[in-house]
Amino acid sequence: MPSISRRGFLGGTAAATLSTFALSSAVFAKESDIKWDETYNVVVIGAGGAGLAAAVTAKEAGAKKVVVIEKMAFPGGNTIRAGGGINAAIKADYEKAGITDSPELHAKQTLAAGDGRGDPKLVNQLTAKAPESVQWLKDHGVKFQDNIYQIYGGLYKRARNPIGPRGGAYIKALVENCKKLDIPIMLNTQVLEVVREKQLSGKVLGVKVKQKDGKVLYIRATNAVVAAGGGFAASDRLSALHDPRMEKLGTTNHPGATGDLLIDLIDIGADTRGLDYIQCIPGNVKGETHAPNLFTHVDRFIFVNLDGKRFINEDARRDVLRDAMLDQPEAIAWTIVDADGFEEQKNSKGPENEAARKAGTLYIGDSIEDLAKKTNIPVEELKKSFEQYNTAVDTKKDPMGRAPTVLVNKLAKAPFYAGRVTMQRHHTMGGVVINEKAQVIDRHGNVIPGLYAAGEVTGGIHGTNRVGGNAMADIFTYGRIAGENAAKNPI
Ligand code: ADP
Repeated sequence: MPSISRRGFLGGTAAATLSTFALSSAVFAKESDIKWDETYNVVVIGAGGAGLAAAVTAKEAGAKKVVVIEKMAFPGGNTIRAGGGINAAIKADYEKAGITDSPELHAKQTLAAGDGRGDPKLVNQLTAKAPESVQWLKDHGVKFQDNIYQIYGGLYKRARNPIGPRGGAYIKALVENCKKLDIPIMLNTQVLEVVREKQLSGKVLGVKVKQKDGKVLYIRATNAVVAAGGGFAASDRLSALHDPRMEKLGTTNHPGATGDLLIDLIDIGADTRGLDYIQCIPGNVKGETHAPNLFTHVDRFIFVNLDGKRFINEDARRDVLRDAMLDQPEAIAWTIVDADGFEEQKNSKGPENEAARKAGTLYIGDSIEDLAKKTNIPVEELKKSFEQYNTAVDTKKDPMGRAPTVLVNKLAKAPFYAGRVTMQRHHTMGGVVINEKAQVIDRHGNVIPGLYAAGEVTGGIHGTNRVGGNAMADIFTYGRIAGENAAKNPI
């Protein structure tokens, strides 16, 4: 008898490892079988950027009763911790910045940076609607800085930052909108199951939740459930399962980014894609807290290793930067900016870098020699690295391969600032499969009726490697799409 591989049997995605959970929790339910404790039109799971955008949009699109369910004690998820840079090819902005751009170029670069593993339809929709998302955020109270810049791993000058506390600026504005629109956010409430008529068929009816005091409630969604539970980079087990190299690394994520909602969705038949692709960015080295953030503006910083040598073009893709740093002695690098670079990043990173200064992880030198002394970097090598980079700015030719567009600012003005970093798990590119309407797709390619998903819990947009600044564009764009469609979903 021919053997059937388990992978083929489960539907064939390379990421089928998680599908082994599929039959672990029985969710056999008919509407009449369950005593529903509360009823809403749209139930949104997760009070991060995607979930809050979905909830506000659903209400504004006509859903009478909308609720957001959040397992943590406060809203925000990873979005509140995010740098906040959002990519969008907005004509007025790129013309003012004197650059050429378009949603088409944004899509092309996004697909290429993900090695063609992103779904072109989802990516094209993302880049076409990202400008609208920025406008939508403005209309909902978010103010933006004027500066358009190339964010770390962003590969192009296309990002802008909100005014205010990084990603927290979005969360603050959207929580205020929820209040205004009478959308309750149930905190300390974890979704344990997404309830479907039958475990692997029929429509989604609502959710089973557990509150902090252990009380279990069934919450009915008469239109739809929107799953916006974020990624799993805080889970050592799931991260190591999909990329064993990740096991020893720390994470930038909030403690709730454990992928439990992803597993709940797989339990009711959702297909997955891209779970093996896990992004890292610089963060604390082991034993330290409060690493300074000196690397967001690519045209302002350099990396050197513990020997003081540059080892990579700092404008590279995030996966390339990750691998290059992990290859250095002790997998550690120094990020270095000058006084002007420090000043420019102050708008968004000021409080973080002040906390680093207090924690003793921000090193400040009045000269290159002084910085070398304070950081223990060999002074001659550090001088050579400064010289190499500053000459590259003059000649527009960098032996490390930086593009001329990010060879514009010398490291010239003292004091110089440095922070020691290593790579930390940051973003999980994979997740559940969605279509352009943000409907969740099952392992047979069919829509799961009444279920939408948006944000980091989904896969198929960023491919192997997410472009810096595209996460914010993704969560607000697909959050809005999911919310609008959920509101209109036939009952
Ligand atoms: P995104 O960027 O996609 O919006 P975030 O990480 O910002 O993702 O937000 C996801 C939110 O979902 C987090 O606040 C997280 O605590 C919440 N969450 C995750 N799983 C559950 C769950 N099972 N029940 C309720 N909330 C959840």
